Parts: sequence; C-alpha cells; structure tokens
Amino acid sequence: MKWIDGDSEALPEFTAVDGAGEAPALSRWGNYLETVSAYGDERDRPDLDTTSRMSIPLKYGEIHPRTMLADLAQERCAGAEAYRRELAWREFCAELLARYPHAAWKPVRSQFERMEYGVPGEAFEAWRRGLTGFPFVDAGMRELAQTGFMHNRVRMVVASFLVKDMFVHWKHGARWFMRNLVDGDLASNSLNWQWVAGCGADAAPYFRIFNPISQGLKFDPQGDYVRRWVPELAHLPGSSVHESWNAKASGYPEPVVDHSEARREALRRYAAIR
Ligand SMILES: Cc1cc2nc3c(=O)[nH]c(=O)nc-3n(C[C@H](O)[C@H](O)[C@H](O)COP(=O)(O)OP(=O)(O)OC[C@H]3O[C@@H](n4cnc5c(N)ncnc54)[C@H](O)[C@@H]3O)c2cc1C
Repeated sequence: MKWIDGDSEALPEFTAVDGAGEAPALSRWGNYLETVSAYGDERDRPDLDTTSRMSIPLKYGEIHPRTMLADLAQERCAGAEAYRRELAWREFCAELLARYPHAAWKPVRSQFERMEYGVPGEAFEAWRRGLTGFPFVDAGMRELAQTGFMHNRVRMVVASFLVKDMFVHWKHGARWFMRNLVDGDLASNSLNWQWVAGCGADAAPYFRIFNPISQGLKFDPQGDYVRRWVPELAHLPGSSVHESWNAKASGYPEPVVDHSEARREALRRYAAIR
C-alpha cells in the first residue's frame, strides 16, 4: 500500500485487535471491563498498556458507546467513572465537528489564524520518523509508525512538541496522524490537536507547554516504554533513558531543539496574537 499522497512508503502493520466485527469487539470490551477499576490510576502510563484500545472498534462502529455506558453503569468504581468521562470527550468532539465543520482544519478560536508557524521542513521530518532526540517523543512516533496506534498521553506530548517546540501548524501533525492511526477519526483527531495547540473549544491554555523530558519521567518512570520503541537506547538503565544526552547512545540523534528556548519563543508568539 502507498501513502494517500502517493509517496512510496508502506503503511504500518496495523495493531491486531482480535479480529473485526461486533462479536470480537464485545468480547474485547467484556474482558476489559474486568480490569476497568485500574483505569483511574493507570490510564496515563504508556509503559503499563492498561487502556482499552476500544477506540478502534468504536471508530469502525463495531460497538456503540451506549452499550459501553450501560455496562459501565453496573461498575461502581473510580475507574468506571474515569472511563465514562473519556467516552464523553469522544462525543464532545463529534458534537463540535457536527456543529462547526470548519473545525476539521481551522482553529475554533479565530485569533489563532494569526499565529506564526514555520514551514514544515527537516524538523518535521525528524518528528515523523521519531528522530527528534527526545526519547519520549521518538518512542511515540515510532510506536505510531510500527503499529498504527499511540497511547493518549504520548499523543498529547508529541502534538505539543510539534506545535510549541517546532512551531509547525497542528494541521500537518493531524494529517500525519490521520494517515497512520488505525483509530483515526476526524472529529477526535482534529479537536484533540486543537486542544493541545490551545486553539480549540475548552482547550488546554496555550501557555501549558509540555516538557517532553519531565512528561517521560512522570509517565514512564522506569523508561520501559522508551526502551520498547527506541532500540538505540535499550542499553540505558531505568529513567536515565529519558535524558539520553547524559549517556553515550550511539546512533541516536542529539535533541533537535532546546526546549527552554523553544518555550520562551512559543510564549512570545502567543503574546503577539492575544
Ligand atoms: C493529538 C491527539 C489526536 C487524537 N486522535 C484521535 C483519533 O484520531 N481517534 C480517536 O479515537 N482518538 C483520538 N485521540 C484521543 C485518544 O488519544 C484516543 O481515543 C485513545 O488514545 C484511544 O486509546 P484507548 O481506546 O486505549 O483509550 P482509553 O483510554 O481506553 O479511552 C476509552 C475511550 O474513550 C475515548 N477517548 C479517550 N480519550 C479521548 C480523547 N482525548 N478524545 C476523544 N475521545 C477519547 C476513546 O473512544 C477511547 O477508546 C487523540 C488524542 C490526541 C491528544
């Protein structure tokens, strides 16, 4: 298969999801419900892989969110409550796109039309290939390329990095996600990109700029997620993998940006459109 714009690279091998159709989706959901109590505490940890991956059957209409809500109503635990909130985000995105179709590719907050972005060049290519020199970002981009999936926490971090450290417009990242994600959904994708970029409805404040290193240390505390996807760093022990420049890591790139400088520049650009 080819990319949709006709270049010659192959699409990723898609993440196996126990077969297609309603029966496998219901079976997957039934099994997941038995573990949903852990969802509240562990859903932000890509190293533990404890989220449901129900986004894929949901995208293909193999299960209805109302079925899931009815089952969740039987579960009286914080995990089920947290899961309900995430399903609500999905519906919120769908509702927004239905009411404001331009939100697919244009900012909901119109002041962001004036935001200064660069032309996607070499840095964008490094981001797409998982070669930014920021291990948590690169792990996510390589997971996406190899499996067609990426954990939600990592999606937020790689998206923030593209927009606020590299100054590439979110729509380029959103297009790359839509080409690669098995669960790629126009509403959830564009509205989440807008949330991260600060230009969506109820968005994260623009000045909330994720630090890609501390996010890695916090949500992949032993470094297992990074080592799984970035083999050049597999020899680095524990959390040291998140600061690879402190160790010898041959074949792994130097950081493509200085995060502190990029942060200052991002805030300057934001001040200019306020
Ligand atoms: C930049 C970015 C792009 C995204 N693009 C997509 C996309 O194209 N398609 C997609 O389905 N989700 C998208 N998401 C939302 C979220 O990352 C995925 O739904 C989630 O990672 C899917 O994994 P899961 O099923 O294991 O999630 P779980 O943590 O098990 O969540 C349960 C369900 O809740 C819904 N959900 C969870 N978080 C969100 C959210 N932030 N927004 C909307 N619905 C959510 C999904 O339907 C998910 O299956 C994106 C998030 C970001 C930050």
